[in-house]
Amino acid sequence: MAKGRAVVITQVGKPFEIREYDVPDPEPGAILLKITQAGVCGSDLHTYRGELYAQIPPEGRVMGHEGTGVVHKLGKGVTTDSLGKPIKEGDRLMYAAIRPCNRCYQCLNGHHNWCSGTQTLGGGAGTWPYFTGTYGDYYYIGPTQPVFAVPPELPDNALGFINCAMGTVTEGLSRAGCKEGDYVVIMGAGGLGLNAAAMAKDMGAHKVIVLDRLANRLKLAEEFGADHTINIEEFNTLPKRKERIMELTNGRGADIAVELVGRAELLLDGIEYLTNGGTFVEIGDIVRGRTVAFDPSTVLRGKKIIGSLMYRPQLLPVMMEMMVKNLNRRPYTKIVSNTYPLAKVNDAFRDAEWFNQQTNISRAMLVP
Ligand SMILES: [Zn+2]
Ligand SMILES: [Zn+2]
Repeated sequence: MAKGRAVVITQVGKPFEIREYDVPDPEPGAILLKITQAGVCGSDLHTYRGELYAQIPPEGRVMGHEGTGVVHKLGKGVTTDSLGKPIKEGDRLMYAAIRPCNRCYQCLNGHHNWCSGTQTLGGGAGTWPYFTGTYGDYYYIGPTQPVFAVPPELPDNALGFINCAMGTVTEGLSRAGCKEGDYVVIMGAGGLGLNAAAMAKDMGAHKVIVLDRLANRLKLAEEFGADHTINIEEFNTLPKRKERIMELTNGRGADIAVELVGRAELLLDGIEYLTNGGTFVEIGDIVRGRTVAFDPSTVLRGKKIIGSLMYRPQLLPVMMEMMVKNLNRRPYTKIVSNTYPLAKVNDAFRDAEWFNQQTNISRAMLVP
């Protein structure tokens, strides 16, 4: 029987193991994808550091959720993507990185990313269908998981980050009601922040202001549509940053402030940057237990705080069309800054950790 490799985390702080499993035959309605790219997302780094799950099951867990690939085998009954477009073996496919149950109140309400049903497939590592994460040769797409054909115009190296980084910020901006005339502040210029800048501009934002501490990432943010950037090494106190943002927004403040760094205290900063009635969007801080002392009176004049996680699957085709439209304006092929073969997964994680503090990694991709 044909075998494929999968990257398994067995213990926090230990190198990942690469294990071999039988290549599964997809059940009716399912699809087996041959992975071409798998992204190292912030949440994978949290898992790696042991911050996301209380414990790793003794048999281990297959890593990875972001990525893309081509159809290896279609399960019985699958002839089209979720919008009725014919698909066949070898076609490039974008899948929703959530597995909605379609049988809970939130799913029925169209909020598949808030699904309160079961979202996992199989169990720990070594349980059929084995390829339950994207760090491997294959990825098993379950029958309830939406999939979309990739437009031929999109280059291969601009696909890997769509179904987590781009989707997540698009959902957040959409929930915040980003629209024509808005001033949008984006905290963090990594893979999420670059996508957020481009998407906010595409949604009509009048001005996008991006904050980061790395000059090279801020430079890239400008290529992705940022009208202004603020280096927090220079504007190193909240009053300084707030003053600059007020200056750039004609004294009004931001309509939307998006937190993509993953630091709890940025909630307090973001609220200060907002105009009355503005919306703070929490996306980056996914680790439980980090708290801030919050003064409720700061939001009395209509300020809102919303959280946002992943995305509604129908945004995937919308985003891919947006990318086709903007391919000549935004350097989407620059988001993936580093690629690694699967066997070098431990190097990819070590570098992503290091790069996050030191240099210009925006997205590391595993290319099996
Ligand atoms: Zn992710
Ligand atoms: Zn559900």
